[in-house]
Amino acid sequence: MKCILCEQRKPKRYCPAKKGSICPVCCGEKRGIEIDCPLDCPYYIEGQDYQQGKITKQRLRREGVQTYLRRAELYNKNPELFARVEIVLSGLFRIDGKISNEEVAEALELVVKTLDTERKGVLYEYRSESRIVNEIAGRVLSVIREHTDRTQIDQKRVSVDFAKDVVDEFRKEVNFYMEIDSNPRSYLIHISRYHPEKPGAPHGGGRVIISP
Ligand SMILES: [Zn+2]
Repeated sequence: MKCILCEQRKPKRYCPAKKGSICPVCCGEKRGIEIDCPLDCPYYIEGQDYQQGKITKQRLRREGVQTYLRRAELYNKNPELFARVEIVLSGLFRIDGKISNEEVAEALELVVKTLDTERKGVLYEYRSESRIVNEIAGRVLSVIREHTDRTQIDQKRVSVDFAKDVVDEFRKEVNFYMEIDSNPRSYLIHISRYHPEKPGAPHGGGRVIISP
């Protein structure tokens, strides 16, 4: 018997998405990315918890508790906005698996600059020379717009100031991944694990990753 995915190693666990036995290596590398894991798969949940714990500890060690608390405070004010930004990024990554952490970081920086300008009452959209970076920035910005739009008065509405802080948190997080992990797509892989549903599919209850 061999793993049905790599056809090399010994299969040790049943994969509900692939409906067959796979090896722990394939499961660990492909879960939530190439494998469309059901959210209740115990291996999937275990993997997410492990990954999240590891990253949180590393970041706490490096940046101290203040950064963590600040992030938690922002998150608690509007978890939906955090989830939507993650869904946009992981959705783009699913469409184009070549997108890198670096491109995401650049795009987020443009969005932060755009929002910062807007905050001062000037409308100007910062652009990059990279088509991909502009695409990412444009999508993130349109999610932000839905939440800052002044005509849409409900509790989802946030100030431009707050939106800028949230995007800046994302930017810092991607930069953190770029520092600690040599894989150029580590951040995107990480968030994609939390949003395994296909782009365009109805919301499947993917958990947001930074919940404190
Ligand atoms: Zn395998």
